[in-house]
Amino acid sequence: MVKIHHLNCLDLQSPIGGSAIGHCLLLETEHKLVLIDTGIGLLDTLQPAIRIGQDYIDRIGYRFNEALTAFRQLEQLGLPTDSVTDCIISHLDNDHIGGLADFPDAAVHISTEEYENFKAGNPRYLQTPLAHHPNIITYGPSSEKWYGFEARKINIDIAWDIFLVPLFGHTNGHCGVAIHADDHWIFYVGDAYYLRAELNDPHHPIHQMTKMNADNDELRVNNLNKIRELVQREPGIVVYGYHDEEEYGGENHFA
Ligand SMILES: [Zn+2]
Repeated sequence: MVKIHHLNCLDLQSPIGGSAIGHCLLLETEHKLVLIDTGIGLLDTLQPAIRIGQDYIDRIGYRFNEALTAFRQLEQLGLPTDSVTDCIISHLDNDHIGGLADFPDAAVHISTEEYENFKAGNPRYLQTPLAHHPNIITYGPSSEKWYGFEARKINIDIAWDIFLVPLFGHTNGHCGVAIHADDHWIFYVGDAYYLRAELNDPHHPIHQMTKMNADNDELRVNNLNKIRELVQREPGIVVYGYHDEEEYGGENHFA
């Protein structure tokens, strides 16, 4: 049996784009815990200037709160933090992976393209979150499909099928995660949109920010369009992004 916990592991007050959360998923089984993105970590929160740097903190607008870290939230749930064996990661921006260092023995699952982008020295990434040299498992192109999207099956011993779904654009290897939760699908789209409103409002001001932060804006827009079509075509699929506070606390009742 797998139990799902939705956790908010980030508080961000962007100087240019309003506030944002970090909607992570925790999958709990009898033997292991799996995180899907990690938010900002406990180590980051204890040593922000050293691990992240003041310029970066000011630019992104991080607010540090120990209680929001995945590590502390696991403790709060009474779950052993050393049972986190795997972290499935949408992309390697710091606000999604700061928490990896708190679970140093966990394997990190990402797309090959994302890891290549990181190693190529793209200046958007911080080196700190991977400085503990975790076991990184990469997934390259696949011929498997999921609702018209390419799907790369994650190699984890868990009762549910989980796939990395390339949604390139925000970064060159950014992926969503499709999870077959017993009788329904969950599709976590990471930063394919910042706000759910982007799906329906082509003039929403947040588009400026998503565009500005995209490695490849053309791919980002293509994938946003594909997600919009999926949501219209398949209303039974639970779709959510990482940063939208309203989506997290709203009618879906993730919170
Ligand atoms: Zn993000």
